[in-house]
Amino acid sequence: MSVYTTLFEPHNFIILVVDDCRHNLRLIQNILERVDYQTIIATSANQALSRIKSITPSLIILDLMMPDVDGLEFCSYVKNQTRYQEVPIIFLALSHQESDIVSAFEKGAADYITKPYKHTEVLARIKTHLQLKQARDDLKVLLDKKEVLITKLEQLVTIDSLTEVYNRRHIFFLGEGEFKKSERYHKSFSLLILDIDFFKNINDDYGHPMGDKVLKIVAETIKNLIRDVDYFGRIGGEEFMIILPETDFPYSHYVAQRVRNKISNLAIDIPDSDANIHLTISLGLAVYNSKYDNFEQIVQQADMALYQAKKNGRNQVCYLFSHHS
Ligand code: GH3
Ligand code: MG
Ligand code: MG
Repeated sequence: MSVYTTLFEPHNFIILVVDDCRHNLRLIQNILERVDYQTIIATSANQALSRIKSITPSLIILDLMMPDVDGLEFCSYVKNQTRYQEVPIIFLALSHQESDIVSAFEKGAADYITKPYKHTEVLARIKTHLQLKQARDDLKVLLDKKEVLITKLEQLVTIDSLTEVYNRRHIFFLGEGEFKKSERYHKSFSLLILDIDFFKNINDDYGHPMGDKVLKIVAETIKNLIRDVDYFGRIGGEEFMIILPETDFPYSHYVAQRVRNKISNLAIDIPDSDANIHLTISLGLAVYNSKYDNFEQIVQQADMALYQAKKNGRNQVCYLFSHHS
């Protein structure tokens, strides 16, 4: 298999030839067109610039000595334009002077051929530079595709597909990070675990798809209520987690009440019905302190508080002052 993913076909390439001598221009144009390259010609740098405004050439063949703007000046101007940065420039010049050759490369030329030139050599060099350019272009396309794929994969790995909030794995990962930060900087954070009350009834009464819709609405509502710096994820069927960085009791208790209140005021439309679904949530709160050894312990604490909230009659926030406090 070739290293070039795209087939090399001369008629796909447009070569701009710039030379103040018309005879030279015609000569090169002939050589190029005989092997099927498309050509554009210009007798001055200014004419060349106006030619490439509407068409970006694949390669430029450039004379060195030209009246007004010379080849070196034109070369550095073109190479500084983002649009033409990837266009290889080959000098075709009379001068054999080392300083001219070095300047050409310094200005960004891809190659330098001296006159008189051999047709076959010019064609061979052009082909090489076009192939290299094509390989670079192909690589760029592949890299762009890779970027898109990585973004998609990151989404798949971190986002819950139903509710589009963080999934269990990712919110736990973020929670562990928050735990380490709090340990190191002696800061606090709060953790809320919330569970929809009697969610089974919603599925039973209105069907599983409606249950899914309710989950999406609950997630969306909570996401809109908390700050951008807070983390929010779905950790189970109808169970969610909120992490509030640098937030202590009682502020986190106030946030929890706000979330609870907002959800209890929702009236979710039931298609083809005048009735609405009303629902409530129960929340367990835990707050970081240095007595905790790891994130899991705080999760357990919030879980116990949630259990207590359910036991106490649901639609409430519970915070246990435990041996950890
Ligand atoms: P409690 O107040 O004690 O939390 O009661 P509950 O009915 O909410 O709790 P339970 O754990 O008994 O039921 C949760 C239900 O959530 C059971 C399950 O079918 C449903 N469920 C879990 N995941 C999904 C989901 O992705 N979509 C839908 N529609 N339902 C789900
Ligand atoms: Mg429930
Ligand atoms: Mg549950």
